[in-house]
Amino acid sequence: MEYNIPKLPENAKCKRCRSRGEIRLPSHNTIWCGACFITFCERAVAKAMKQFGMSVETEILVAVSGGKDSLALWSILNNLGYRTRGLHVNLGIEGFSEASVDAIADFARAQNLTWTQYPLKEVFGWRIDEIRYRTRRSICSVYGTVKRQLLNRLTALEGYRTLATGHNLDDEAGRLLGNFLRHRDYYIEKQYPYLPSTHPLFATKVKPLYRLESGELRAYCHFASIRPLSASCPLSRGATSHLVKEALQFMEDKMPGTKRDFYFTWLKKRQPPAPFDGEGVSRCRECGAPAFMETCSVCAIRAMLSSGGHGTGVRETRDE
Ligand code: AMP
Ligand code: ZN
Repeated sequence: MEYNIPKLPENAKCKRCRSRGEIRLPSHNTIWCGACFITFCERAVAKAMKQFGMSVETEILVAVSGGKDSLALWSILNNLGYRTRGLHVNLGIEGFSEASVDAIADFARAQNLTWTQYPLKEVFGWRIDEIRYRTRRSICSVYGTVKRQLLNRLTALEGYRTLATGHNLDDEAGRLLGNFLRHRDYYIEKQYPYLPSTHPLFATKVKPLYRLESGELRAYCHFASIRPLSASCPLSRGATSHLVKEALQFMEDKMPGTKRDFYFTWLKKRQPPAPFDGEGVSRCRECGAPAFMETCSVCAIRAMLSSGGHGTGVRETRDE
């Protein structure tokens, strides 16, 4: 992975320990050495976890794709003392999925961490290329729904209550801006980096990286000697969400701190969501999984694929 961390002048000093400065963070108007930058990232995650009310006793299942964000997340939670296990859904995309698995396996071996992988075909019934071929909706939105539901189910299957994903500040601020642009009040209402649940079949979902920018996580991997998969998922190419994130980054470059201000100011005005207790949940008539309608959204998508990709979109009920 290319980290592209610009070299600082010889006399640049770390704000904390005064040793040689290695990275400049314009949005914080500061310079750190590598070790202090790692501490800065770990503190940001510790702060997020504290806000979520999660002590280090909480056992956490970490959704890992093999990319920089999820490996940085796993590394930081582990360094903070959380007991973690990795969970990977293998999409079976030629080249890309093997490389993802290699990146996860190398990291887990070096850190002595355990993880499980589930092939998508086995847990969903269709391979990603079959989904792509058969759907008229964007592959990303279909797979996004499937992924969220599968990660939730696999969390229960693995015996965990809490699932952490590697969504960062760019993801969350970009999603918020995208939702504002399209006036999606329903999704704005439900967006939050912490979705607690008391229902045994719905995991509590946390996004502990929401205070860190994408570039900061790239730099974290560099300074922590983590080798994530550098390729981005071939499914997400051309996704609108990328465009919105690019627009935000454009403003960030001209006005450092824009992303943080935009997202954090909105977040401060919000109340953390009440724990989900299963209200309105019944069982899917096809697969028995928890569902808000007669069939769960995974079975609705399966039916849509079996009928040749026709059918209406599935509106999710719990997050996003
Ligand atoms: P993405 O939607 O691809 O940006 O991924 C967001 C987060 O979802 C990642 O940081 C991971 O925590 C999780 N994730 C993405 N892909 C996978 C996968 N194949 N298996 C497990 N978790 C994943
Ligand atoms: Zn179902």
